[in-house]
Amino acid sequence: MSAVFPLAERGTRATVVEIGDVEIGGRELVLIAGPCSVESEEQLRAAALAARAAGALILRGGAFKPRTSPYAFQGLGKEGLALLRAVGDEVGLPVVTEVLEPRQVPLVAEHADAIQIGSRNMHVAPLLRAAGASGRPVLLKRGMSATLEELLLAAETILLEGNENVVLCERGIRTFDSYTRNCLDVGGIAALKRLTHLPVIADPSHATGRRELVSSAALAAVAAGADGLMVETHPDPDSARSDADQQLTKAEIADLAERTRHLALAIGRSLSPPPLAEPQHDGRRSDDGLIVRLREAISANDRSIVEAVNTRLELVAQMRTHKDSRGIPFHDGARERQLLDELHAANCGPLSREGLEVVVLALLELTRREVIREGPHDHAREMADAAASAR
Ligand code: PEP
Ligand code: MN
Repeated sequence: MSAVFPLAERGTRATVVEIGDVEIGGRELVLIAGPCSVESEEQLRAAALAARAAGALILRGGAFKPRTSPYAFQGLGKEGLALLRAVGDEVGLPVVTEVLEPRQVPLVAEHADAIQIGSRNMHVAPLLRAAGASGRPVLLKRGMSATLEELLLAAETILLEGNENVVLCERGIRTFDSYTRNCLDVGGIAALKRLTHLPVIADPSHATGRRELVSSAALAAVAAGADGLMVETHPDPDSARSDADQQLTKAEIADLAERTRHLALAIGRSLSPPPLAEPQHDGRRSDDGLIVRLREAISANDRSIVEAVNTRLELVAQMRTHKDSRGIPFHDGARERQLLDELHAANCGPLSREGLEVVVLALLELTRREVIREGPHDHAREMADAAASAR
């Protein structure tokens, strides 16, 4: 890459950007969700509650809309900003919204916790500078035909204003294929993570433009290293005044979040769980559906445990075959002790030391029964003997 962007360039650090009290760029993935456009108080509230119920930590919504057609809905403007602030406060989520012109920046900065610069404006230097000077974190979306270098130079323009809080967003680029609205640049996400210390998120909604593809694109982005996702949700997507084809229902965004949680676990990250109870707009808390959701989560987790136990049995069976073929005794008390020590070191809680020992001993006993098909065995005593002889 030829151009130089010294402020955005990756050194040894990774920047964590705070929007409200939410950190983007750490281990935890952040879901930003909300409607494409703020249409009414009821619509925004319903979308915000769906976002929050899915586990989103930041509310999005367009008040000033950058529409390709001047005849399309242009957003509620100032009224939309006020609604965003009010509903964000009511449901307890910080808000991000787009700014189209430099002169709107003070007003948007007054209402929003972060300022979004959209794809169509990524190249507009006066807007980048004004957003940079606002003091608010900036969510910078990649121009639909912008190279990674151009995106990083746009970020550099904001950073030069003394504003360190820039989050980059890959939202799909133009290609020859029009089946999807844009083409999610998954490789570009991985590249950005190497090129810059700034957090990188992805917007699978604008990248695909198709509701049925949003969740898959989201997972691909997270697998590529994205620090978060920005997803559009609407209480009745088909009636949306903008981007009707790509907005997710409440159930769909909850499903996207759940899949993302599973993937996050596999790559050493996490996505915040759904809140324990959804606040109602009259201030009451409702546990409706909570038992069902928690039950589902517990069942899914237990299925993963059974799968993991089966994998263990298969591995131990392979070990047994191998050792038998070489005449090596199968049982190894010292190895079992070592395994327990490794697991103690890896355990971050809340499982206690005693609890972990119960689990490990049960696993060893189970393996013995299922793979070696012998009677019970005193693993605890054997491990204690192994520890004593190591001293
Ligand atoms: C948006 O996020 O509201 C939006 C208009 O997206 P983009 O700028 O990526 O087209
Ligand atoms: Mn949109």
